[in-house]
Amino acid sequence: MHAGIIFKPTKDNFAPNKLEYIYNKLFERYSHQHWWPGETPFEVMVGAVLTQSTSWESAARAIENLRETGNLNPHSLQRLPEKDLAALIKPSGYYNDKARKLKSLVEWLRVSCNYNLSLLNDFNTADIRQSLLSVHGIGPETADSILLYALKRPVFVIDAYTCRILSRIGVVPEGGISYDNYQRLFTTNLEPDTAIYNEYHALLVKHGKTSCKKQPLCNFCCIASICISYNSRI
Ligand code: SF4
Repeated sequence: MHAGIIFKPTKDNFAPNKLEYIYNKLFERYSHQHWWPGETPFEVMVGAVLTQSTSWESAARAIENLRETGNLNPHSLQRLPEKDLAALIKPSGYYNDKARKLKSLVEWLRVSCNYNLSLLNDFNTADIRQSLLSVHGIGPETADSILLYALKRPVFVIDAYTCRILSRIGVVPEGGISYDNYQRLFTTNLEPDTAIYNEYHALLVKHGKTSCKKQPLCNFCCIASICISYNSRI
C-alpha cells in the first residue's frame, strides 16, 4: 500500500484524472523509490548539485570521495580549497564548475543559517527558494530538489523526464511547455504533500529511464493506454 494521492477539487478534472492515473500506474509498476539517497540534508544538497548534467552513479562516486576524506559536511567543505574540492568531485564531471557551485552553496548556508539547517524552518518556502535561486549554479530544478528532498518542503520538482513523459502523453500545461507551467500544473491539482511529491517525481524519473527514453519502449509502458504519442502511431 502507499499513501493515497489527493487532488484539489477543480472545475476541469481532465488533468487531475490523468495525473492520478499516471501516479497510480507508475507506483503499481515501480513501487517506492526511496528518494533521495543521502544520510543527511546536507548530503542531499550536495548531491543535488553534483547530479547536474550527469548520472546519479557518477554523482554518488563524487559524494563517496567527499565522505571518505571527511569533507561531507559544510564546515570542511568551506575550508577545503576549491581546486582540492574539484579533484575530489571529478567523477561527477564539470568538476571545476561544480566545485565553484558547491562553494557558493556552502557560503549561502553560512550566511543564511550559520550551517544550522534547522534554522531554515523559520523561513517560508517561497523566500528560501528565491534566496537559493540567487546562488551561483542553482537553477529551478536544483533549488526545488533541495527544498523537497533536503528541507522536506512540498515543492514539485520538474525535470526533463517529466516534460518528456507528460508532453508525449498529451498533458500540456496552460501557457505551454516550461518548467514553471508544468510545476503549476502539479501544484494546482495536487494537495501540497511532501511524501507524494517526493514519490511522484522519483517515479517519473524511473519511468523516463526505464520506458519513456529518448527512443521510447512503448510496448512495455504501463501508461501507454492514455499516451497520445503512442496511440497516434498504432
Ligand atoms: S507509451 Fe511510449 S511515449 Fe508514451 S509514455 Fe509510454 S513510453 Fe512514453
